[in-house]
Amino acid sequence: MNAPARIAVDTKKLNDALARFPRDRAMSIAGRAVGGDGEMIERSSPAHGVVVTRIPRGRAEDARAAIAAARLAFDNGPWPRETASNRARLLLKTADLIDRDRELIAILDTLESGKPLAQARGEIEGAADIWRYAASLARELSGESYANLGADRLGVVLREPIGVVSIITPWNFPFLIVSQKLPFALAAGCTCVVKPSEMTSASTLHLMNLLAEAGLPEGVCNVVTGYGPEVGAPLTADPEVDMISFTGSTRVGRAAVAAGAATLKKVSMELGGKNPQLIFPDADMDAALDAATFGAYFNAGECCNAGSRLLLHSSIADEFIEGLAARARSVKVGDPLDADTRVGAIITSDHLGKIEDHVTAAERDGAQVRAGGGRLESSGFFMAPTIVDKVTAAMAIARAEVFGPVVVTLSFDTREEAIALANATDYGLSASVWSRDVDTAIGVGRGVRAGTIWVNTFMDGTPELPFGGYRQSGVGRELGRNAVKDYTEEKTFHVHTGPRTSWWLPRGA
Ligand code: NAD
Repeated sequence: MNAPARIAVDTKKLNDALARFPRDRAMSIAGRAVGGDGEMIERSSPAHGVVVTRIPRGRAEDARAAIAAARLAFDNGPWPRETASNRARLLLKTADLIDRDRELIAILDTLESGKPLAQARGEIEGAADIWRYAASLARELSGESYANLGADRLGVVLREPIGVVSIITPWNFPFLIVSQKLPFALAAGCTCVVKPSEMTSASTLHLMNLLAEAGLPEGVCNVVTGYGPEVGAPLTADPEVDMISFTGSTRVGRAAVAAGAATLKKVSMELGGKNPQLIFPDADMDAALDAATFGAYFNAGECCNAGSRLLLHSSIADEFIEGLAARARSVKVGDPLDADTRVGAIITSDHLGKIEDHVTAAERDGAQVRAGGGRLESSGFFMAPTIVDKVTAAMAIARAEVFGPVVVTLSFDTREEAIALANATDYGLSASVWSRDVDTAIGVGRGVRAGTIWVNTFMDGTPELPFGGYRQSGVGRELGRNAVKDYTEEKTFHVHTGPRTSWWLPRGA
């Protein structure tokens, strides 16, 4: 089955979804709904071409007010001094409220981002699980003690919340990504200002309602909405902010680190990727083909973790690409509100144009399109699942993050060549190795410089396992057992007991 010539959307389903929530939203600062100066940013569903939400266009003064509220709540409020058990209870209650509102949150993310509703539901369920994991870590947070420093010395290392955290998130997984940061910052006792993407703010604003319902004190978490340079930039530069936790593009991440450097803020950066899937001839080919299709087209390829580079052993390359092309042509692209849609809409018309430009440039460089290649006719923005073959490591498309449903294929003959190709980008977020041979799987996995290596699977995740990138894919790790510690400072207590040995009197005097 080829992708349909025209993508149709179901107006009844859209109207039913729109009936579930008010169009207009407000920022949340110090527990109050704030409209900014009254100017609103409209967000249209990229699948339906209809305005679905309106958020305030926040300004620098709104960002400053939110930082001041978070500062006050940190310096004088109860949250940083709260017991771990009470913090954990609030996180667990929030998780229950997320479960209660799962359908609404999923609809908000779907309408604003264009992702399939069935997928969004899974993301919200996963997000609730992360809030529960953070609650478990809240009660585990502890420091260290040293009783082995001599009879008159005792060392105790405390973990204290780092302070005010700016949390800046992108549009591709709006609710999931804020849930990879906020519950851990709150578990540590920090206070926060969150800035969601201007295109997908609704689910984060809804989360604020849930936190208030769960009993979070005013000012502990604040949300400002608007454009990056206007409200994001002040959150990275303000001297009252102690840490920046950012997920987004490498370009903006670099600017955020530079802005934070003036006051030496701690940074946690989750940035772009160009992730290779390495397929060896002894792999389970059906499983590898399924994962290659999923890796390339999940979330329409708008995924930091997308498996956007297929590195194929030359002995299986042709057959593999044929199998992949058949799947690319049959994967269901369509209305995100349809239950069986696998690939939804592209975030904006502008971004769709950029994806097409990458493909056209690759063809000019000598690559060959084996499936898809461009947009599908629709009232929204849809792109056909695309394969670009005959790519070499020197081509721009082999290195750039396309961030669309486009996978490139390259081939190799030896393990060493495979590792070198895998490492031939500035990124290092994730990779997968497909082989039944343990030497190949482990040996190649150890050679690839990336934060996550999957073996015979792709894009699996669980809160217990840390996630983050090597090189220009990021700084630091999220999730995993250290996720709460990341939002803390260490304080050393060095205690002396008994008589002091004098510094200036001779020994024995
Ligand atoms: P983006 O960098 O354009 O925007 C991210 C956020 O930063 C948005 O909220 C934006 O408004 C804000 N922003 C923009 N300019 C700013 C500035 N000067 N100062 C402070 N904030 C500013 O990214 P995007 O287009 O929203 O998302 C796509 C990118 O995110 C891709 O590169 C993708 O790989 C990356 N991403 C990474 C991960 C990961 O975990 N590694 C996860 C998801 C997305």
